[in-house]
Amino acid sequence: MHELAIAEGILDAAIPEAQRHGAKRVLEVRLKIGELSGVLPYYMQECFRIAAAGTIAESAQLKIERIGVEILCRDCGYEGPVDRKKIRCPNCGSAELKLTRGREYYVDSLEVE
Ligand SMILES: [Zn+2]
Repeated sequence: MHELAIAEGILDAAIPEAQRHGAKRVLEVRLKIGELSGVLPYYMQECFRIAAAGTIAESAQLKIERIGVEILCRDCGYEGPVDRKKIRCPNCGSAELKLTRGREYYVDSLEVE
């Protein structure tokens, strides 16, 4: 499962970081997930629980925020949000687009104690 590998990667980065700050527990992880990243929030929650079991993040809350899709139009220069179901330039209708947001995912913040 894609999400399990991502959850493990997040914890592999987050736990040493929390420990470096003297944390005993991770209370909350805020994750941002692009709508085109292929990461499904529901599975992410499940996989986070599995990956966090037995670690200092075991009881952490995972908060997920979606990142909308944004494009840069190569034809008219439009830059901004677009409907992810209909990825066309809303200004000129072109499909010559560069995706500027929506594919990424990252840890936005950690709350520890
Ligand atoms: Zn355009």
